Amino acid sequence: MTRRQQIIQILRQTPQTVKQLADYFEVTRGEIETDLVHIEKSVRAENQKLVIQPASCRECSFVFRERSRLRKPSKCPRCKSEAITEPVFSISSQNPQQGNSQR
Ligand SMILES: [Zn+2]
Repeated sequence: MTRRQQIIQILRQTPQTVKQLADYFEVTRGEIETDLVHIEKSVRAENQKLVIQPASCRECSFVFRERSRLRKPSKCPRCKSEAITEPVFSISSQNPQQGNSQR
């Protein structure tokens, strides 16, 4: 089984941060981030979805919703705190309210 297949199996059962996955597979965060980009595409082909719980600020609860969701932001734009939680990834079945014009 490839690492990406293993990550998919893990994320179906337990939500993980990039750091947790990098520690588990003993690779860099960058490699995991690249894997996640590919995983997002391959699970979508199976009608599943890579769910990302976005990073947020521990101080003021600001939630980071911008596009580059994979990377952990370094600083809160609202209160400048560096106490940022990591985004948490999991895989779930595709939400039925999405893709109404797919067929
Ligand atoms: Zn903040």
